[in-house]
Amino acid sequence: MTTTKTADVDGTLAQVYALAGAGADIVRITCNEVEAAQGLAEIVPRSPVPIIADIHYQYRLALAAIEAGVQGLRLNPGNIRKEDQIKAVAREAKDRGLPIRVGVNAGSLDKDLMEKYGSAVPEALVESAQMEIRYLEEVDFEDIKISVKHSNVPLMVESYRLLADTVDYPLHLGVTEAGPPPAGLIKSVAGIATLLNEGIGDTIRFSLTADPVEEAKAGRQLLEFLGLRERKGLDLIACPSCGRAEVDVIEVATNAQKALEEANLPIQVAVMGCVVNGPGEAREADIGIAAGKGRGHLFIKGQVVRVVPEDEMVEALLDEAQKLVDEGVEARLAQADANAEEIAAAERRQLIEIQGDANRAADRRNAVAEVATQD
Ligand code: SF4
Repeated sequence: MTTTKTADVDGTLAQVYALAGAGADIVRITCNEVEAAQGLAEIVPRSPVPIIADIHYQYRLALAAIEAGVQGLRLNPGNIRKEDQIKAVAREAKDRGLPIRVGVNAGSLDKDLMEKYGSAVPEALVESAQMEIRYLEEVDFEDIKISVKHSNVPLMVESYRLLADTVDYPLHLGVTEAGPPPAGLIKSVAGIATLLNEGIGDTIRFSLTADPVEEAKAGRQLLEFLGLRERKGLDLIACPSCGRAEVDVIEVATNAQKALEEANLPIQVAVMGCVVNGPGEAREADIGIAAGKGRGHLFIKGQVVRVVPEDEMVEALLDEAQKLVDEGVEARLAQADANAEEIAAAERRQLIEIQGDANRAADRRNAVAEVATQD
């Protein structure tokens, strides 16, 4: 959702483009005044993604947003409560083939329901949605999506579970007012991922107190990490580091992430703190680098292709990652330094001798042999 004044057409459009670039498939924009609706009339035709108008209190602004050409509406049943007004909007939306999201929010729940239930419990949120759905269905409007957002993660999860058991419409997931990252991110992931893994939910939004581009990026990444969306961006995996690390893994991983994100490469990259365990543990990554004694081992699909000086690790990783994306795995493996694997193996042996074998392979082999040969 944009954070600009909607009347600021150029500012809002710039944010819409930034959100779309970060992975947003649809963008919601507030329509809270006449000037906002007028702004939408200019924004919608120039937007790269569908625009949803966010409507509170004034049903006439919903009609104005429809007139402005938006591709959908979000109505808050907690503060647009008159049946005839809701039906007027639904009739107009139906005529234009537009969907409506019934956007229930625990923080702005219908007053009567608050009195009935005492607080914004899941039953209250779902009943609010059901009342609105009834009005819409009474005028044959069924192009409906529903959300029952709560800022409390367990209550949010329970509300959506109850809703999914009660209705058959698509659901939009979100933890409302999640707050700034990192806590806001953790709350959002906890709620949204739990439900997505249960097969509940059709669209998502992270509601963070942060630049909205962070919201879009986080949402896209969550879907990519859950395997629900094709990866379009970088997936950087890095070891947590330990006493074996030969470099400052946090610094190398941070620098690598920055450089690779700027290059916008859609691959999985590993940054590992030592060559003893790193390449093996990260063999599934498209490309990676592991730190040796003063040198980095650059590997593709677990095979070391170059050994580079430590201070060139990030640069070499970026260079090879770009070539990998341009030329493909087989072409880059064919270009591997002929003696890279040999040098890497010698360095690994050297480090094991210095540091000891963390897996204690020799001890384990002896112990196994002892057990196997006992009378
Ligand atoms: S890759 Fe090496 S440095 Fe990183 S956690 Fe594993 S053993 Fe430790």
